[in-house]
Amino acid sequence: MKIERIELHQLVGKIDAPYKSSMAWKTSRGTLAVRVVAEDGTYGWGETGVDAAGFADVAQGVIGMNPENFGSIWQSIVNTRYQGGGYAGIASNVASAVDMALYDLVGKARGLPVYELLGGKIRDKICTYATGLFYTENDVNDPTWRDLLDEAQAHAEAGFTGMKMKIGGLTLDEDVDRVHALRRQVGDNIRIMVDANEAYDPATAITMSRRIADANVTWFEEPTSSRALDDNLLITTKSPVPTAGGESASTRRDVARLLRGRIFDMIQPEIVNVGGISELKLCAAMAEAFNVQFIPHFFNTHISLAAILHVLATISQAPPAHPKEPFVNEPVTEFDQTIHPVRAALTEPFFTQTDGYITIPDAPGLGIEVNEDALDHFRVRDVVIVD
Ligand SMILES: [Mg+2]
Repeated sequence: MKIERIELHQLVGKIDAPYKSSMAWKTSRGTLAVRVVAEDGTYGWGETGVDAAGFADVAQGVIGMNPENFGSIWQSIVNTRYQGGGYAGIASNVASAVDMALYDLVGKARGLPVYELLGGKIRDKICTYATGLFYTENDVNDPTWRDLLDEAQAHAEAGFTGMKMKIGGLTLDEDVDRVHALRRQVGDNIRIMVDANEAYDPATAITMSRRIADANVTWFEEPTSSRALDDNLLITTKSPVPTAGGESASTRRDVARLLRGRIFDMIQPEIVNVGGISELKLCAAMAEAFNVQFIPHFFNTHISLAAILHVLATISQAPPAHPKEPFVNEPVTEFDQTIHPVRAALTEPFFTQTDGYITIPDAPGLGIEVNEDALDHFRVRDVVIVD
């Protein structure tokens, strides 16, 4: 079997009611959907967040390779750009999407779900938490935080046992008040996480952590610039709330630096950045060996969510002690609940949670199909073909 072509579908969906992290209003969301097609017509899907033109340049070298050699294909993409730090950035993004697509393709060719290609699943469902609770246009002028609290109530009623909110987008006092208001709204039995998206300097981050600690916050995500390892280590050392980060890490090399330095208490590689299914599984093993919690990031479509679920189905309980408890020793995945028109239409099945858990798909490959009508509807330029 040979890889015949790669199709790149640049998809964007406009958002009618924008929402904001500490950094920017989101007025649209999208993805680069990547289909790898073998000469017999078998295909698989991956995704990542880079421009199609840059992707095509890097991906050219895999045409004609045997898709079943997904390990060596990963190396061929990343290693050719190793010198000078080129393993980071676009090579890692291309490897992520191609790797995901090859697992999907090979799984379909062999009639096996991806978790079987990874050694078999040791659990049937994965605990998840809701990502949402961004700033709305109302929040900026509403000190009762009605939008925040209504959304939190909806997540709780839907069965989520944890949820993550944004901080860093209003003043320190306002954000502290929002965290405590959220805790009062959801009660004591739901986990709350906060994500600053790198909003603070270390001293302010430590102050924030001290002021929200009594709201029983499970982790404080990206308190400061993620590339500033010393600054994050300082925060991690002084913060009463455990820290989390790593969503922009590229490959095992970035993740190794975070683990070796104990920069964060929890590590959060993102499958569309770090290097796909192969690399996410490797990073889980590295985190286990360093005794650091592994909680992958997710903020794209259900192509990559399916890929994350297959990885998490197969990784060790860490540490391997009883009882099994998500957020303590059992895997957890992020489950973005914000408005994302492309995600809502792109894949079937559309994953949902019950009592805070998502069931691992059992169909061959990733276990999802991509809706061709959605590709046509959200594509913002002609399909880029690499062949
Ligand atoms: Mg984040």
